Amino acid sequence: MSDPYSKLAEQALGDQPPSADQALWILDGQDVDLLPLLHAAFKPRQQHFGRSVSIHVLNNVQNGLCPEDCGYCAQSKVSSAAIRQYKMKSDEEIFAAAETAAQGGAARYCLALSGRGPSVQRAQRLADLIKRLKAEYGMEICLSAGIMGDEQAKILGEAGLDRLNHNLNTSESHYEKITTTHTWQDRVDTLAAARRNGIETCSGLIIGMGESSEDVLEVGFKLRELETPSIPVNFLIPIEGNPVRDDGSLTPERCLRALCLMRFINPRAEIRMAGGREGNLRGLQSLGLYPANSLFVGGYLTTRGDPFADTYAMIEDAGFEVAGQGDHARARPGFQLAGSDDLLRPDVAAVAE
Ligand code: SF4
Repeated sequence: MSDPYSKLAEQALGDQPPSADQALWILDGQDVDLLPLLHAAFKPRQQHFGRSVSIHVLNNVQNGLCPEDCGYCAQSKVSSAAIRQYKMKSDEEIFAAAETAAQGGAARYCLALSGRGPSVQRAQRLADLIKRLKAEYGMEICLSAGIMGDEQAKILGEAGLDRLNHNLNTSESHYEKITTTHTWQDRVDTLAAARRNGIETCSGLIIGMGESSEDVLEVGFKLRELETPSIPVNFLIPIEGNPVRDDGSLTPERCLRALCLMRFINPRAEIRMAGGREGNLRGLQSLGLYPANSLFVGGYLTTRGDPFADTYAMIEDAGFEVAGQGDHARARPGFQLAGSDDLLRPDVAAVAE
């Protein structure tokens, strides 16, 4: 009888998800041994992605001013967090940041906009931007712009948008405890519209928002049912002024178990260590690279992250390699690109000051 870790690895290598009991054991089992669990999750990760780590850079092109009430979000109408609010950035600003991301070795450039969702007119502006960014930098372009239907998705799909991010965030049963101005089904429908219009989907979750382990399982299995190729796993960042704050559950081990669970349920998907990586995994971040094969560098929507150089060092010191383009080695010393005084992500730095 093989041990529970080898059994999980065998199943995942055969693209068979864990049973509900196995999944609950991964998150809550008192007798779980973390290193064998990480090693088991590494097997399907290695099968599909080797030891490579895909680097994503986020550009928060519109911040705050959102009519929605997502309790974990500093941009929501119910947050009193001291963020710098701004309307959509100019194309010049967006291209300048894309240039820096491309030079820094980013495989994907993610545009994020606050708000309920884009109008048809806004979708057309974004489509034009996406076409030009792709032509200029050759990076894959992702967009996170809220709820949309077929009309907007068609415009973006025809412009060559590579991926649409729209996180389910938590289980259906837990959703209304987090957000009341739109529904979990609105998010499922947005992902369906993207797929119908030829856009790959990216959808993940946030843990640490008072959800149960059963809620984490539910969203993990739903993302599998939706065949989601890219799954960001966020760890709640307790922002002063947000209604949804720290539920006390997030230890580095809980975060690592959740990453392993998402890998076992979705063996072929790109699992990303996303928001809250630095503050919640702390000294164990590099262990997260065993189940996860991608991460964000340079910061998040309203909070700072570790500099490029530190993150690249963490990846390479742990024996993994940075995937993607660009001579990122130049970005290692001192957070500044060789020969340039440009600081990466000054806007996030300003907000966090
Ligand atoms: S998560 Fe998106 S929709 Fe929700 S409040 Fe934040 S910006 Fe608005």
